[in-house]
Parts: sequence; structure tokens; C-alpha cells
Amino acid sequence: SPARPADVVVIGGGQAGLAAGYYLRRAGVDFVILDAQEAPGGAWQHAWPSLRLFSPAQYSSLPGRMMPIPADGGYPDADHVVAYLTDYEQRYRLPLIRPAKVQAVRRHGDRLAVDSDAGTWHARFVVSATGTWWRPYVPHCPGMRDFRGEQLHTAGYHGPEPFHDRRVMIVGGGNSAAQILAELSQVAQTTWVTLRPPRLLPDEVDGRALFDLATRRHRAALAGQDAPGVGGLGDIVAVAPVREARDRGVLKAEPMFSRITPDGVAWADGSTAPCDVILWCTGFRPALGHLAPLRLRDSDGRIPTDGTRALAEPRLHLLGYGDWTGPASATLIGAGRTARRLATEIAAQL
Ligand code: FAD
Repeated sequence: SPARPADVVVIGGGQAGLAAGYYLRRAGVDFVILDAQEAPGGAWQHAWPSLRLFSPAQYSSLPGRMMPIPADGGYPDADHVVAYLTDYEQRYRLPLIRPAKVQAVRRHGDRLAVDSDAGTWHARFVVSATGTWWRPYVPHCPGMRDFRGEQLHTAGYHGPEPFHDRRVMIVGGGNSAAQILAELSQVAQTTWVTLRPPRLLPDEVDGRALFDLATRRHRAALAGQDAPGVGGLGDIVAVAPVREARDRGVLKAEPMFSRITPDGVAWADGSTAPCDVILWCTGFRPALGHLAPLRLRDSDGRIPTDGTRALAEPRLHLLGYGDWTGPASATLIGAGRTARRLATEIAAQL
């Protein structure tokens, strides 16, 4: 079918894409959101059932509509976020097309062509908001191919059932590792290994404080000043299950092993530990494969930007992914603030 014109095509219908949609709509811009998923909720649809947000609902909201407080009054889980995002896109009647996976964005005269399962669009601007869930990161470790047990990444973890009574090596020093360790240590023999000693925040500090810190850091960086404060969005928030695990004494991390053996892992000092499972809670990378034809990535795999606008392709904006596209823009509360600036900038140029 022939290519359709649009002022703006947003790629990705997770929280970042919805926040962009909210402000583009308010700015009166003609746009469409293409999302690869069958259903609303972005990556939150795929998270493990016990995941808890690191901020309370009041501090996890997109623009315009507060996230309801969960019935138990605690930190929201992933299903709660999916329900909120589902309601959000319906309430604002955002123009979503699903499933529509974008294979490529390419230059096409004065427009960008967006090729997807649902057809091609010719857009004056493209907003890429495809998140990171789709690119799990596992560091290379010598011997990993010879391991006879099971290896999986956070993205493939769906709860503790398959791990009963098994010896599980949990790798990673962030919130995912700590929350999964808290849960698995109740049914499995767990060992926790981290590259650096993990940082557990005091009980009264949650994602709000980390978000404020991310914002102050971003401002300082823009002003050429030194980064203020210590801590960051990777620090471990003491949500209830993590507090309980700490009080049980299981939040004790070993240094990272240096190689994997067929039956377990080995450290540089010669010590070894057998295990049945290695669970890599080692994070994610931006899902930017659809932008490959534009050839914009630097050696770190990022696309250099001024705010959200790609330096080498001013018709392309990036939203979410990490602090480099806006302070805490890969969090629920941070996405809105970055999206507002993005929509203002695009509307001014149209
Ligand atoms: P996503 O939710 O991944 O949405 C992107 C959408 O784009 C998806 O629907 C995807 O299918 C689609 N897509 C991808 N590629 C294409 C393509 N080529 N074409 C079309 N569509 C495509 N943040 C918080 O604020 N609080 C928390 O407590 C918190 N906890 C987290 C815990 C974990 C374990 C993780 C991984 C993240 C957490 N985050 C948290 C961070 C962040 O809020 C999430 O990563 C969030 O899902 C990012 O939203 P997004 O819209 O950028 O990406």
C-alpha cells in the first residue's frame, strides 16, 4: 500500500511513547504511534509478577493523570502499571496502531520513511521511544558456553517456581537482582555476585530522591559543573521484600567471579562454587536497531543528542533509554518532563 504522510511518527507505545503522545496532542500536532506489542503496557507486560516499582504511585505518574494508589497502599507492581497505561492511552484517545513493528527508519527526501509491519509512513519528524527491554545485556564471561546448567537473563525470569531447591547464582548489583534474590532465596540456594559492592539505600529513601538527584546531576552537567551527591537510579531501594531479605541476612554479595566452569563458577583466587543456574540481572541496552539505516550511533552504541534531538539527524528525537535523552527519562515520572520539551520543540518547527 502507498506510504502515508504524517507530521510525526512515534515509534513505541510504552510509557515514553504515551507521554510524547500526550504533549503532541496538546500541541495540536498530527501524529501516530506505532507499537510492536499486541496490547498496551510496553515492557511492563513482560516483567516478573513480584516486581515492585521503586517509587510510590504518586511519584510514578505520566502527565495529566495520577497513577491510582494500589489497594494495599504499597509500591505498585507491574500489573498495576499495565492497567494504568491501558487506561491512560484510552482516556486520551491516543492514536495507537498495534501490532506495528518498525523495521527501519530511512531518509526519504525532506522526510523520514518509517517502514513497519503495518505499512510505511513518510514523517516530517520521528520520535523513537522503543525502550530497552528488547535488548537484554549479558556480559561476556570466559567459559560461559561450556556451562552445563541453565543461564537466563532478568527478561526471561517469570517467578520462583522453576528454581525450587536449585543452586542459583544471581549476578548484578541493581534493583532487579536484589528483588529477585529476595524472592528466590526463599525457595532456592542463592549466591549473589556483583561487580562492585551493592548500595542499599536507607529505608526512608526511595525513587523520588533518586529522581531529584538525577535531575540535579543533569542540570549540573549542562552547566559544566561537577555532579552533585552520591547514589543514582541503579541504587537499591529498600522496598518491603528487599527489607525482609536484608533482615533475613541474605543480602550479602560476593565479588564477581572471573570465569564459568562446566559445573559452576570460579574466582581469580582459585576458589569455586558449583551451581545449577546462572541468572544474569545485568541490565539492558537501548533498542535502536530500527535506526541502523541512519548510521547515527557512536562507539558506545548511543546516538549523540542535543536534548532529545539527534545531532546528526535533526528530524529524529529519542525519548526514554537513559539519562542521555533527558534526566531520568527512562522512568515513569521522568518521561513526561522530557516529552513536554520534545513536543514543544517539534511543534515550533512544524
Ligand atoms: P518500553 O516500556 O519498553 O516501551 C517501548 C515500546 O516500544 C514497547 O511496547 C515495544 O514493544 C515497542 N517497540 C520496541 N521496538 C519497536 C519497534 N521496532 N517498532 C515498534 N515498536 C517497538 N521505572 C520507574 O519509573 N520506576 C520503577 O520502579 C522502575 N522499575 C524498573 C524495573 C525493571 C526491572 C526495569 C527493566 C525497568 C524499570 N524502570 C522503572 C524503568 C522504566 O520505567 C521501564 O524500563 C519502562 O518500561 C521504559 O518505558 P519505555 O516506554 O521507554 O519503553
